[in-house]
Amino acid sequence: MVEKIVKSVCPKDCPDSCGMLSYVEDGRITRVVGDPAHPITQGFLCGRYQHYEEVIYHTERILHPLYRSDKSAEFQRISWNEALQILAGKFHEIIAEHGGAAILPYHYLANMGFVSSRSGDRLWNKLNTSRVGLEICAMAGAEAVIRIFGAIRGTEPQHLDKTRCYVAWGKNPKATNLHSHVLTKDIHPNIVVDPYRSESAKSADLYIQPRPATDPVLAMALMRILIDRGWADLDFLAAHTTGFDAVRARIMQTSLTEASSICDVPRARMEEFAELYACNTPSLIHIGVGLQRNSNGGEMVAALATLAAIAGQVGVPGGGALYANFDWPMGDISEPSLRSEDANFYNMIKLGQFLTEDDAIRALYVFNSNPAATAPNQNKVYAGLARHDLFVAVHDIFMSDTAQRANLVLPACTQSEQWDVHRSYWHDYAQINRPAIAPIGEARPNHWVFGHIAQAMGFEESCFRETEEETLRGLLVGTELDFDALAAGPLPCQPVEQTSFSERRFPTPSGKLELITPSYTPAAVDGDHRYRFITPKSRHLQSSQLFNVARKQAGVREPILYLHPEDGALEGIADGAPVRVWNSRGEVALVARLSTDVQPGLVASYMVRWGPNANATTPDTPADMGGNSTFHTNFVSLEPGT
Ligand code: SF4
Repeated sequence: MVEKIVKSVCPKDCPDSCGMLSYVEDGRITRVVGDPAHPITQGFLCGRYQHYEEVIYHTERILHPLYRSDKSAEFQRISWNEALQILAGKFHEIIAEHGGAAILPYHYLANMGFVSSRSGDRLWNKLNTSRVGLEICAMAGAEAVIRIFGAIRGTEPQHLDKTRCYVAWGKNPKATNLHSHVLTKDIHPNIVVDPYRSESAKSADLYIQPRPATDPVLAMALMRILIDRGWADLDFLAAHTTGFDAVRARIMQTSLTEASSICDVPRARMEEFAELYACNTPSLIHIGVGLQRNSNGGEMVAALATLAAIAGQVGVPGGGALYANFDWPMGDISEPSLRSEDANFYNMIKLGQFLTEDDAIRALYVFNSNPAATAPNQNKVYAGLARHDLFVAVHDIFMSDTAQRANLVLPACTQSEQWDVHRSYWHDYAQINRPAIAPIGEARPNHWVFGHIAQAMGFEESCFRETEEETLRGLLVGTELDFDALAAGPLPCQPVEQTSFSERRFPTPSGKLELITPSYTPAAVDGDHRYRFITPKSRHLQSSQLFNVARKQAGVREPILYLHPEDGALEGIADGAPVRVWNSRGEVALVARLSTDVQPGLVASYMVRWGPNANATTPDTPADMGGNSTFHTNFVSLEPGT
């Protein structure tokens, strides 16, 4: 018998932020399904989080704290009280000897809830710890669109019914934004631009396969065609933008023949693309959050935003360029007055580098992240985590790659065991996540752990004694969001009839759309490594999450490397054969799959497997904007494996 149905939110780093319903019988969740009342996600979950109950009740859940003083020793079960005393003692000791900056909380968005991801900020402020800058994914594109539009905004999904041409640029909606695919699959023309022929590319009306990261050149060629054919919206550009003269001068230097050669896209294809895009309006360029993980990621996103402006599509309902809708008006719960020293910021993509180049960091506290699997330059991360003088604490639901390298492992809650509040970075709906069941074993939410660390350290501030619900209510202070209404279901944070920038007012210094003159900076070559190795997201895994869930394993069992048959012949690598992928940073053993889904010279493997993975080869050099990761600007060599 169904005892109750609890409304919750998928917490994953995914634009959809699906509404979920948890069915609870006798105190146990029997199934988790999509909430049909959610206006955007409309009652279904993607393949990753259907059967979320299999994560909740997984036999490998960590159920109690584990500790070892020596990382080569076996873990021993300890109590929470012992765990908190160990952690508090270690933090006190490090602060006394080296200062709070020697403690680094390392986290990303394995849980995007505001309580889960932000309630530690007050503790880190109190301790004057160093911080990471969240550069591992989206920052280059964020910086580009903020410089151009003044905000990370674009057309909202409720306006997709007006879109007449949908361009998924560097985006595979079927895998990474499934509800966007559902809302756009009947829009024609449907155009996909991607160097890898993804499942979305295979069903497109027009598929454009440029050489990796030549997208700014392709965008400039399209702008040239728009200007030459009179499809540029000169009235919009004159009235609402700055910088168009410089942009036009740069565009008029663009040779379509040369662009075709650089991008390896036939000129006729570029002209067909331009005509479909310019003549079927409103036209939307939906920019993949992944494209920017290139050395020129910022200029790539900037070029696409500029293209949409040239077409006069910005602010048009259902048109424009959408990278993300990422303005989250939530109350500040970080208690900044608790901090007495400026924070020292580390770029999180350089974790291995800064842990190995000196001993400035003495304690690493990891939550909402698994950097031993997901951070670039994996061998350096492994070496850094192995330092005997580095105390590593990990709060996770599973014994992740990082937890396996820790001193102290703390059992975390799944989404079904905690309160939180969520907003999407695609649609504008917010919702409270209610716990459906009590924590399993001795699992505790992030919020509980942060507060109890503070109490164990002797801090008296009342913020460290708040309940999850009190902190959640604090997040709503200053917003128009009501706790009870949000707990009852998804609520729009913006008027749904509104489209970003529809009044042609931009929150930039000039109040106008500030065009960036397009540029193209080819990737620097890396020795003799001739293959560009990209690592797109899998539709089976959520970053490194779910890798140990049996149902998802079918899709990721084999560590596949896609390479073109010509390259297979060149390297003597047959379909199904083991292949060694290597460069100066490391190597990974994969299984070859010969495929024309990749171009000659391009190889691809889905991320992120547990254990040694493609990140053994990925670089930790930042992109042109935002300090962004550059996973896709990775050059490797191939040879038959053993
Ligand atoms: S991962 Fe994304 S699409 Fe899948 S259930 Fe969660 S929010 Fe929805």
